[in-house]
Amino acid sequence: MTIHRRAMLAVFAASAATLAMPRLVRAQGTPKFIQPPLPYSDTALSPAIGQQTVQLHYGKHHAAYYANLNRLAQGKDYNDMSLIDVVKKASTIPADQAILNQAGQCYNHELYWDQFKPGGARAPAGALAAKIDSDLEGLAKTKEALIAAGNTVFGSGWAWLVQNGDGKLAITTTPGGNNPVGRGMTPLLGIDVWEHAYYLDFQNRRADHVKAVLDTLVNWDVVAARFKA
Ligand code: MN
Repeated sequence: MTIHRRAMLAVFAASAATLAMPRLVRAQGTPKFIQPPLPYSDTALSPAIGQQTVQLHYGKHHAAYYANLNRLAQGKDYNDMSLIDVVKKASTIPADQAILNQAGQCYNHELYWDQFKPGGARAPAGALAAKIDSDLEGLAKTKEALIAAGNTVFGSGWAWLVQNGDGKLAITTTPGGNNPVGRGMTPLLGIDVWEHAYYLDFQNRRADHVKAVLDTLVNWDVVAARFKA
C-alpha cells in the first residue's frame, strides 16, 4: 500500500466516524417510550397523597423508569413495540426481567396516575358495580381485600383489582414492577405499595395509605372503562 493510499484511508475513516456521530446523538435524543403528562396538578391528590410525594413519585421515580427502559430497549425488538406488548413479552422471558422491571413500572404508573383523575364517580356503578357485588361481595369487601393484599406484599410491589380471562373479577398482587397482564389478566385498579408511594405521608402505615387512596382518590369511571362487561 502506498503512503498516499494509506493517508486517504485514514481520512476516510475519520470522516466516517464524524458522520456516524450525529446519528448516535439523534437516536439518543428521540426516546421511544415517553412519560405521559400528569393529568392534574401536583396538589390534586392531597392529603391522601401529598404534593411532595407526587413531585418525587411522578417527577423522579416514574420518570426514571422511562429513561432506563429507553436505554435497555435500544437496538432490541422491544424498541418497536407498544409499552403493553413489551410488558407482556418480557413477562414470558426470564432473561428479560430487567426490561420487565422498567417497562412494567412505566405501565403500572400510567394506570396509577390516570385512575385518580378528579371529577369521576366516587363508587362503581352499573355493570361494574354488579360484578363487584357478585364476584367480590361488594365494594366494602373489595376495599378490605385490596388493603389486606397490599399488606401481604413483602417489600415492593402492587395490589390489584383485576379481571381474569374468564371475565371474573379478582384481587391479586405483583412483586416489584410486574403487571397482571403478564399473567393474562386485565388490570382495573392498581395500588402502588412501594414505600416511595406513601412514606412521606403515612410513614410505615401502609394500610392507612391504601385505605385513604381507595376512599378519596379512585375515579371509578376510569376503572369502569378498563372493565369488559
Ligand atoms: Mn411507584
